[in-house]
Amino acid sequence: MCLFCKIISGDIPNKTVLENENFLAFEDINPQAKIHVLIIPKVHIASFNEMTSNIMQEMTPFIQEVALTLGVKSDGYRLITNIGSNGGQEVGHIHFHLLAGEKLGSII
Ligand code: 5GP
Ligand code: ZN
Repeated sequence: MCLFCKIISGDIPNKTVLENENFLAFEDINPQAKIHVLIIPKVHIASFNEMTSNIMQEMTPFIQEVALTLGVKSDGYRLITNIGSNGGQEVGHIHFHLLAGEKLGSII
């Protein structure tokens, strides 16, 4: 079982921000901004390469709800998904990083 599947199953504890039947949002263990939350589907999907349009469609309002829950929706935030080794992906279960809570430096 992958690291994030162990978080979903409860084998590894997490600080949950928001959860529903299909998705989980939890605090990153090594935050890169004042607010750094990871958003994942509960079904194991390795990366954005394996993502389906159906799951992405369901995930979109969940991510928006996470931003609302965190109180960052109007001030703004950044969403990142790293893909593969050149993309810097370390955990092989798709996740969106939500970074917020401060003015973020430009990366592109
Ligand atoms: P990636 O580099 O794959 O895009 O991001 C993986 C993220 O998972 C990193 O930001 C890292 O800090 C986070 N992470 C790794 N292990 C754990 C863990 O056990 N718990 C939590 N909450 N985050 C983790
Ligand atoms: Zn997994």
